[in-house]
Amino acid sequence: MSSLAKNYNRKKISFLKGKGSFLYTKNGKKYLDFVQGIAVNSLGHTNPHLIKAINNQSKKLWHVSNAFIIPEGEKLAKKLSKSTFADKVIFQNSGTEATEAAIKIARRYFFSIGKPQKNRILCVKNSFHGRTIAAIFASGSKKMTEGFGPKVDGFDHFNFGDHKSLEKAITKKTAAIMLEPIMGEGGIKVVPEWCLKELRKLCNKKKILLIIDEVQSGIGRSGKFFAFEYSNIKPDIVPIAKGIGGGYPLGAVLMTKKVASSMIPGTHGSTFGGNPLAMAVGNAVIEQILKKGFLKNVRNLSKYFLEELNFLKDKFPKIIKEVRGKGFLIGLQLYKNQNVFIENLMKKKLLTIRAAENTIRILPPLNVKKKEIDLAIKILKKVCESYK
Ligand SMILES: *Cc1c(COP(=O)(O)O)cnc(C)c1O
Repeated sequence: MSSLAKNYNRKKISFLKGKGSFLYTKNGKKYLDFVQGIAVNSLGHTNPHLIKAINNQSKKLWHVSNAFIIPEGEKLAKKLSKSTFADKVIFQNSGTEATEAAIKIARRYFFSIGKPQKNRILCVKNSFHGRTIAAIFASGSKKMTEGFGPKVDGFDHFNFGDHKSLEKAITKKTAAIMLEPIMGEGGIKVVPEWCLKELRKLCNKKKILLIIDEVQSGIGRSGKFFAFEYSNIKPDIVPIAKGIGGGYPLGAVLMTKKVASSMIPGTHGSTFGGNPLAMAVGNAVIEQILKKGFLKNVRNLSKYFLEELNFLKDKFPKIIKEVRGKGFLIGLQLYKNQNVFIENLMKKKLLTIRAAENTIRILPPLNVKKKEIDLAIKILKKVCESYK
């Protein structure tokens, strides 16, 4: 009997090793891994660049306190600010810490300009921002918050796509709107580009901050470095995690100079956040993703993948309801039961993972090969055929 608590619904399988897009079991069975730790292993398993980076750094220095200057962190922050909207960065270890930090920064900004009453965060109902006490109440999901009261105050909600309820929910006390540009756990629901544009305008008009949670959609997953870039807007605060560490726990919050100015010494901190080992891996990931042509390749190959998936949908209209997503953040909303479908794919050696609304998530590594996409399509087709 396992000594682990039962808070996960685990598949009865474990893996011995991974390489690129594939995972291998102890007895040599090979699986095409289109989960990649839920959009975490952006460069696949055991990427040689990352192995080199972590090996080199592990011989030099693992951890020092943020009481000292950490050059590897300076370097990664510089890279992030050079290639994005951000002026300043705070490193964390995970996504939920990054979203919490984003909330703190928004509130602290209004405090610092003498408007402490502006402290409420407006979120999409049933969004996902992580599992800390604050983050679950930010999501407002019944399933995630049940039994974890008292309710954390300071969050208001509007329904996805409901612009009237959004405008109505903004009050004098609203500090920020926080949303995922593509709802990941929520079922790969993409916020239309024009919507983000209008949202930016609305935030400007109402003098509130825009927090875009790119924990799942960021670091090239959508085909652009950040998914919001498709809308040509600039947010104020952006939490990131998942893909930035390539499999090493790493999160961060990116922000403009304006809001960063309130984060003076003592306002926020993390023991582990931004340590040299994590920073070395983060630097190596970013170097690969920012290489010329890398993101273009993600856009091209994902376009091909999405087209192929849409062909499948047309061929099996009673099985696949909708193909959703951007880049390699892909969702198939099904008519058939998602769990059974995922099991069936797994039997044929393709790993995928569920999301809300009977959607399965398909998350290849960003450096996936075309022939691996073709293999996935072949398996998906076989599973669809097996329903006849
Ligand atoms: C995964 C995720 C988080 C939480 O990240 P953790 O590292 O699990 O804490 C937050 N926001 C979004 C959009 C996510 O997908």
